[in-house]
Amino acid sequence: MKKKIAILGSTGSIGDCTFNIINKDKKNFEIILLSTDKNLKKIQEQAKIFKVKNLLINDYKKYIYLKNKLKNKNIKIFNKVEDFKKKYKSKIDYTMIAISGLSGLNPTLSLIELSKSIAIANKESIICGWNLIQKKLKKFNTNFIPVDSEHFSIWSLIKDMDINVIEQIIITASGGPFLNLPIKKFDKITINKAINHPNWKMGKKISIDSATMMNKVFEVIEAKKIFNLNLNKFKILVHPKSYVHAIVKFNNGLTKILIHDTDMKIPIFNSIYDKDNKKIKTKKINVNSLNNLDFTNINLIRFPSVKLLNLIPNKDSLFETVLVSANDELVNLFLKNK
Ligand code: NDP
Ligand code: MG
Repeated sequence: MKKKIAILGSTGSIGDCTFNIINKDKKNFEIILLSTDKNLKKIQEQAKIFKVKNLLINDYKKYIYLKNKLKNKNIKIFNKVEDFKKKYKSKIDYTMIAISGLSGLNPTLSLIELSKSIAIANKESIICGWNLIQKKLKKFNTNFIPVDSEHFSIWSLIKDMDINVIEQIIITASGGPFLNLPIKKFDKITINKAINHPNWKMGKKISIDSATMMNKVFEVIEAKKIFNLNLNKFKILVHPKSYVHAIVKFNNGLTKILIHDTDMKIPIFNSIYDKDNKKIKTKKINVNSLNNLDFTNINLIRFPSVKLLNLIPNKDSLFETVLVSANDELVNLFLKNK
C-alpha cells in the first residue's frame, strides 16, 4: 500500500528536498497535503505531479486567488490547518514540518494528531513549543524524528538508550561564511555574503543564523529539549568541513561519532525510510578526507551570540521564545538592509 505523506513548507529548501526524494520513488507514495506561504507556482507544479487534493496556502491573498482559480477543479484549498483537519479524517503515515519560523508551531501541533510519524525540521517550534509538542506526541502516540542534521545524528546515536549514560554531547559548527573574515571587515558584510554558506544550501533565515552562530545557540537549546538533558552536557566545536554532525561521549568510556556528507537529503531520506533498507544516491565521504577533522573552540569575540547560552535557564522558561522572536526580527531587518 502507498504511504500517505504530508509536507508542510513544501516549497522551501527542506520541503522541496523531501518532495524530490519521494518523487524518485513515486509508486510507493501518495501525497495528501502540501503547503506554502506564497509560492503558488511551485506548489501547483508539485501538486500536479502527485495529483495532490489538499493545498494549504498561508498568505491570505494568495489563498483567495488560488481558491478562485481552482474552484472547478477537484482540489481543496485551505488557509488554516484546522479547516483541513475538519475535512481529513484518516491517518497520514509521515508528515514533514519544513515551515520556517515560529509559524510552524500551530500546524505542527495540529498534524501530530493526524500523523503516525512526524519529522520536524522547524527548530523554532521545537525550541519554543516542545512542551506542547511532547504532550501531543504522547497523547496521539505519534512517532517523532528530528531532522536538523545534528539532532538527527544524536537521535541515531542514542536511540532507545537511557539518557543517564550520556556524559557529553558535542555539536559541531561549520563556522559559516565569516569564520576567517577579519573582524574589522564585519561592517562591510552584505546580505549576499551572509547567505552564501560554504557547506550547506539552505533558506535565507537559517543561513543568516549560521553566519552569526545563532543557529548553534538554537541547536543546543533544541537538543536540550528533545533529549531532555541539562545544558552543561553540551559543547559546541567548530569543524569547518561539516562531516561530523554529532559526537556523543558515554559514561562507559565509549564515544560515538556520526559522519555524513553535507547534504540534508541524508537525514531527510533516513527519516522517511528508517529501517526500509533503501539505497540513497548521494556523494559518499571518502575516508581520506577524514584525515584532518580540525575541531576548535568557538572564538567568542567573533561570535558573541554564543555567550547567550550562559543566560538560558535549565528549567523551561519563556527566555528561549524571546530569543527566537528577537532574532527573527533582527534577521528580517538585516534582510531589508536595515
Ligand atoms: P525556507 O525558507 O527555504 O522554506 C520555508 C517554507 O515554509 C517555504 O515553503 C515557505 O513558503 C513556508 N513558510 C514560510 N513562512 C510561512 C508561514 N508563516 N506559514 C506557512 N508557511 C510558511 O526554509 P528552510 O527549508 O531552509 O528551513 C525550514 C525549517 O527547517 C526552518 O525552521 C529551519 O531552521 C529548519 N532547518 C533547515 C535546514 C536547511 O538545511 N535548510 C537545516 C536544519 C533545519 P514560501 O515558499 O512561500 O516562502
Ligand atoms: Mg543543523
